[in-house]
Amino acid sequence: MMLTRLFRLHGLFVASHPLEVIVGTIAVTICLMSMNAIASGDQICDWKYQCPKAQEKILSSDILILTLTRCTAIIYIYVQFKNLRQLGSKYMLGIAGLFTVFSSLVFSIVVIHFLGKELTGLNEALPFFLLLIDLSKACTLAKFALSSNSQEEVRENIAQGMAILGPTFTLDAVVECLVIGVGTMSGVRQLELVCCFGCISVLANYFVFMTFFPACVSLVLELSRESREGRPIWQLSHFAHVLKEEEDNKPNPVTQRVKIIMSLVLALVHAHTRLLAESPSNNSSGSAVDLHGPNIDTHTTMTSLDMEQVITLALALLLAVKYVFFEQVENESSLSIKIPQTFLTNKRAEEECCRRDIALPRIPHTTNTDLNPAPLFIPDSRDKETRQQAVSCPSAQRPAAEEEWEERETQIPATSVQPRPLNECMRILRDPQQGPRCLSDTEVIALVENKSILGYRLESELETPERGVAIRREMLVCKLPRPSALEHLPYTGYDYSKVMGTNCENVIGYVPVPVGVAGPLLLDGKEFYVPMATTEGCLVASTNRGCRAITLSGGASARVLADGMTRGPVVQLPSACKAAEVKSWLESSDGFSSLKHAFDNTSRFARLDRLQVCLAGRNLYIRFQSQTGDAMGMNMLSKGSEHALRRLQEQFPEVRVLAVSGNYCTDKKPAAINWIHGRGKSTVCEATIPARVVREVLKTSTAALVELNISKNLVGSAMAGSVGGFNAQAANIVAAIYIACGQDPGQTVGSSNCITLMEAVGPQGEDLCISCTMPSIELGTVGGGTNLPPQQACLQMLGVQGASADHPGENSRTLAQVVCAAVTAGELSLMAALAAGHLVKSHMTMNRSTVNLQEISTSTLKDPS
Ligand code: NAP
Repeated sequence: MMLTRLFRLHGLFVASHPLEVIVGTIAVTICLMSMNAIASGDQICDWKYQCPKAQEKILSSDILILTLTRCTAIIYIYVQFKNLRQLGSKYMLGIAGLFTVFSSLVFSIVVIHFLGKELTGLNEALPFFLLLIDLSKACTLAKFALSSNSQEEVRENIAQGMAILGPTFTLDAVVECLVIGVGTMSGVRQLELVCCFGCISVLANYFVFMTFFPACVSLVLELSRESREGRPIWQLSHFAHVLKEEEDNKPNPVTQRVKIIMSLVLALVHAHTRLLAESPSNNSSGSAVDLHGPNIDTHTTMTSLDMEQVITLALALLLAVKYVFFEQVENESSLSIKIPQTFLTNKRAEEECCRRDIALPRIPHTTNTDLNPAPLFIPDSRDKETRQQAVSCPSAQRPAAEEEWEERETQIPATSVQPRPLNECMRILRDPQQGPRCLSDTEVIALVENKSILGYRLESELETPERGVAIRREMLVCKLPRPSALEHLPYTGYDYSKVMGTNCENVIGYVPVPVGVAGPLLLDGKEFYVPMATTEGCLVASTNRGCRAITLSGGASARVLADGMTRGPVVQLPSACKAAEVKSWLESSDGFSSLKHAFDNTSRFARLDRLQVCLAGRNLYIRFQSQTGDAMGMNMLSKGSEHALRRLQEQFPEVRVLAVSGNYCTDKKPAAINWIHGRGKSTVCEATIPARVVREVLKTSTAALVELNISKNLVGSAMAGSVGGFNAQAANIVAAIYIACGQDPGQTVGSSNCITLMEAVGPQGEDLCISCTMPSIELGTVGGGTNLPPQQACLQMLGVQGASADHPGENSRTLAQVVCAAVTAGELSLMAALAAGHLVKSHMTMNRSTVNLQEISTSTLKDPS
C-alpha cells in the first residue's frame, strides 16, 4: 500500500509538473553528455572494463547469431505492436511506445558516454536492446492518460496508472538488470558487451518511463486539449474502459513474489562473483577471427554482413507492410469487442451486435450495472463526418435510466465492414429485443432506399427521432450541389418528439432566429414585453421606440371587435337555380341552425356564428365563421365545416363538395373579404401621444406625422390599389411576433391588414392621436407552433401561453391586442423616422451588413468540403 501511494504521488507530481520534469531530464542528459567524468576512454564492455577492441577477432558463428538476434528482435517488436492493437489503438499507442523506446535509447547512449565508454559495438547490441523493450507498459500508462476528459483527470489517471504499474515496473527492471547482469560474467566478449549495454538500457528505460514519458504525455495532452467542439481532441473515449480494467493491470502477487525471490538470489550471485575477481584470461576464448583485420577473408566477411543487413531489412519491411495494410479488419473489430470471441457464438441471437455510426454527440449509455458485458459494435465507414459509436444491445427491457444519452461513450474509428443483408436487417429492425439501435446507419439507409423503411417515417421508426433526422441529413447531403450545405444547419439538442406529426415533416434540422424584445408597452394599464423574432436590423429598435412613446404617454388601449375564424368551402349544384335554392335555405334560420348544430358538435370551443354565402353560376361558396376559443382555429373550422357540409348534403343530396376550402375563407392570400368582414380577431388600438413626447421621443411634430400619414398610408396606398395595406409596416411587427410566438407565418398575409390613422388633437392641436385598426388578426395560443417549448416561452413572456382557464379565448384575444398595440408602436416610430428623414440613416448604420458578402460567397464556394 505504501509503495502504491508513493508511486501514485510520484505519478501525480510528474503529470502535474511536466515541463519541469522534461526540462530536468534534458538538463541531466546534457550534463551527462558533457561531463564524461567517471571513466576514461575505455570501450563499453563488461563490468570489469575488459573490452574487445575494434579490431578484435570474433567467432565466425557470431555473424549468424547476430543475424538471428536481429530478426528475433524485429519479430518481437512486431508482436509487441500487434499486442498494442489489442490494447486499443493501431497507431496512437504505437507512437507512444516508440517514443519511450527512442528516448530510452538516447538516454542509454548518453549514460554510456558519461561512463566514458566508446559506442563501438552498439550496433550489435541494438537488437538486444529492442528485445528488452516492453511497449505495453508505456502504452498502458498512455491509455490511462488518454481515457481522461480533462487535464485534471489526465493527472489523476497518470497518478493512478503509475500507482498500478510503478511497483511492477520497478521490480521488473531490477530482475531484468540482475538477469542480464549474469551475462556480463560469461567471459564471452560479445555477450558481455551486449549484456552490459542491456543493463544500462533497462535502467535508462526505467528512468524514462518513470519521469520523461509521463511528463511528455501530460504535456502533449494539455497542449492539444481543445477541439472545435470544445471537447478534448485527444479524448479517445474507447479507452475509457481502461479504468474499469484496473484490476487487470494489477500485478499477479505470485509472480511478484517469485520475482522478488529471484532478484535476491541473483543479487547474491552477483555479489559473490564480483568479490572473486576473475583472471583476465576469461576475456578471450576460442578460435576467433578479426572482424576488420587481415586474419579473415575480408571479402567473405563483407558479404556475410551485407547478407545479414539485407535479411533483417527485408524482414522489417515485410512485417511493416503486413502490419499497416493487411491487419485492418481483424484487429480493429477485435479491439472494440474486448471480450472473448467465444462470447459471440455463445450469446443468444438477440444479444448480438448492435451497430450505430451516426454523427450524434450523444449516444445511449450503458451503465456499469448492465449485465450485458458486450458493448459490441461493428462499425461502417462512410463520410468523414460520420462518427462511429458503440452501443449496447438491449438484452432485455432495460430501465429508462440505462437509456440515458451520455456524452462520454465509445467512439470507434471507421472500418470497412459490409452491411448485413436486407432481410437480416429487417429481421433485426422488427425484433423487439434488438430493433433499429442494432442497425448501422448504412443499413438503415439501405432499408430506406429499399422502401422497407419509409423515408418520412425515419423519426418514428428509429430509436430516437434525432437519429432519424441525422440519417435523413446524411441521405440528403450527397444529393445537394454543395456537400457542406448542411454544415451550419443545426439539428442536435432539439425535441423532435414535439414536432413529429404536428409541426413539420421530413425534418433535417432547425433554423435559429434571433429574438429581440420591445417594451415595456403599456396597454390597458398593463406592461408587456414583446418578443420579436427577426433578422431585420432596426425593427426591434424601432418598435421599442414606439413602445416608449406610447408608455410615456400613459399607454394605449385596445379592443377586440369581433372574434371569428372562417372557412369557405366551395360546393357545386346541378344548376345555378338549384344553387340559389340552397343559398336561401342556408340563409334561413332553419338552415343555419341545422348546420350550426352539426358544426358545434365537432369541438368544445368552435361555435358557428355566421354563414356568408355567395354564388357564382352553379358554384356555391359558404363562409363559415366561428369563435375558436384560444386556438387560431383553422383545423377546428375545417373539421366543423366538413360535418356541416355533410348535414347540407343530407338536405340536398345533389350538393357536390368540390373542396373544403374554396378560397372564400380567405386564408393566407390577400382578400378584400377579410378586410371588409374581418377574420380571426378584428382589433383596434389607439393612443394619444402628447406633443412633448412626439418632439422628444419621436423627434418630429404632430403636424408632420398627420400630413405624412395622409399622403403615404391613405392616399399612397389608395393610389397603389391596396387592400388592407393602409399602414407603414404592420407586416414587419406581425411577422416578428408570429415567428417568436409560434403562429402560422403564412397568416401574416391577412393578419397584417391594417389602417393607420393619425389626427392632431388636444387644446392646441399639437398632440397626436394614432389608431391602428386590424380586422383580420389570425392567431391563437394553443395548437400549431404554440406547442413548441421556445415558442411557448415567448407566449409566457406575454402571459398568454396555452388555454385560458376561466374564459376560453381570453389569451388569444389578449395576444391580438398586444399585436395591434405593437403594430401601433411600430407605425409611430417608422412614420416619425420618415417624417424626420432619419430612416435611411438608421438603416445604413443598423441594418447593413459590414461583412464583405462577395468575399464570403467566393470563399465558401471555393471551400471544397
Ligand atoms: P388545433 O390544435 O388543430 O386545435 C386546437 C385543439 O386545442 C382542439 O383539439 C381543441 O379542443 C383544443 N383546445 C383546448 N383548449 C382550448 C381552448 N381554450 N381554445 C381552443 N381550443 C382548445 O388548432 P387550430 O387552431 O384549429 O389549428 C391550428 C393549426 O392549423 C396550425 O398548425 C396551423 O398551421 C394549421 N392550419 C391548418 C389549416 C387547414 O386548412 N386545416 C390552414 C391553416 C393553418 P377541441 O377538440 O374541443 O376543439
